[in-house]
Amino acid sequence: MKALLVRKDEESGKTSAAVEDLTEADLPEAEVTVAVEYSTVNYKDGLCIGPGGGLVRKYPHVPGIDFAGTVEESSDDRYKPGDKVVLTGWRVGEAHWGGYSQKARVRADWLVPLPDGIDTRQAMAVGTAGLTAMLAIMALEDHGLAPGHGPVLVTGAAGGVGSVATAILANLGHEVAAVTGRPDQGAYLQELGATQIVPRDELTEVTRKPLESEMWAGCVDAVAGAMLGRVLKQMKYGSSVAAIGLAGGAAIEGALITPFILRGVNLLGIDSVMQPYENRLRAWERIARDLPMDKLEAMVQPATLSDLPGLGRDILKGQVKGRVVVDVNA
Ligand code: NDP
Repeated sequence: MKALLVRKDEESGKTSAAVEDLTEADLPEAEVTVAVEYSTVNYKDGLCIGPGGGLVRKYPHVPGIDFAGTVEESSDDRYKPGDKVVLTGWRVGEAHWGGYSQKARVRADWLVPLPDGIDTRQAMAVGTAGLTAMLAIMALEDHGLAPGHGPVLVTGAAGGVGSVATAILANLGHEVAAVTGRPDQGAYLQELGATQIVPRDELTEVTRKPLESEMWAGCVDAVAGAMLGRVLKQMKYGSSVAAIGLAGGAAIEGALITPFILRGVNLLGIDSVMQPYENRLRAWERIARDLPMDKLEAMVQPATLSDLPGLGRDILKGQVKGRVVVDVNA
C-alpha cells in the first residue's frame, strides 16, 4: 500500500515528504482498519506535511487529518467490514497516522458512519473544513439565527470552511455576504449562493470607533485578526459570531468590549477536533440534508498523493480555492 510519509533528518532537523510503499504491519495499533478512498488538504495538513508546526508527535509520520473509506477489519461491534465511514479530528494525522495512505488503522470512537445521501468522495469534498462550517452554522442557529434576520457574513469565503459555509447558508435561505481577498473569486462565490461580495480590505482597516452601523445577523469567521475586531462592531444587536479559525492572525484588534456589553453580541468558539460522536453524527446528517451536492462539486480540486507536498505549501499561503479532494488510490 502507498502512503505519504514525512521523515525527519535527526541531524539537520529538516523534514521531507514522499510517497512510499508500506505494509499493514507498519500501521499503528487500533480497533478498525479502513481502506481509505479519499482524504483532503486542510491548513493543519499543510503544517504536518512540512516541519509539523509542533503538531506532529513522532516521525516518520503519515499526515491527513480526515479521510473517508470502507471498513476492512474491526474488533469493535459498532463497525463491520463493508461499512462506509468518515473520520475527522481526534488528532488523527497529527499525533496518530492519518488519511494520506491507502489504509488507516484508528479507534472506533473516532469514526462516524457515513449518512445516506453522501458518498465517500462527497464526504471528503466536505471534510474537516465543511464539518466545521456546519458546526458553526448549528451554533449560530442554537443562538437564534434564522433566515430573514438579515445578511450573514462569511469571512475567508473562498477557502475551505468559507466555501462550504456559503453554500449551506444560501441553501438554508440566508442572504450571504462573502468576504474575500481574491476579487477574481467573486463569480465562484456567487455560484455557491453569495448575494454580496465584500472585498477583504474593507474589513481589515482598524478603526477607533467603539461601534459601527449594525449590518450582520450572524457571522462564520475563518480569519480572526484585524477583521474579527472590525466585524464584531458591525454585528446586529443580540447576534453571534462563530469563530472557527485564524487565517488572518491570532490577535483581535480594536475597541473590543463594546459590542459585547452594548449590543449583547456573542462570540462562539467552534472546535471540530474533540467533538463528541453524537455532535459529529448530527452535523454529518445535516450536511447530507442541507448542502446541495452540485454546489459542492464546484468547490472541488482533485489531487493525488504525489501532489500533496506542493498543495501543503499552497494552503499555508492561503492560495487554495475551495476543497482539495485527494484520491489516495489514483
Ligand atoms: P483555507 O486556507 O482554505 O481558507 C482560509 C481563507 O482565509 C483563505 O482562502 C482566504 O480567503 C482567507 N485568508 C487567508 N489569509 C488571510 C489573511 N491574512 N487575512 C484575511 N483573510 C485571509 O483554510 P480553511 O478554510 O480550511 O480553514 C480556515 C481556518 O480555520 C484555518 O485557520 C484553519 O486552521 C481553521 N480551522 C479550524 C477548525 C476548527 O475546528 N476550529 C477546523 C478547520 C479549520 P479569501 O481568499 O477568500 O480571502
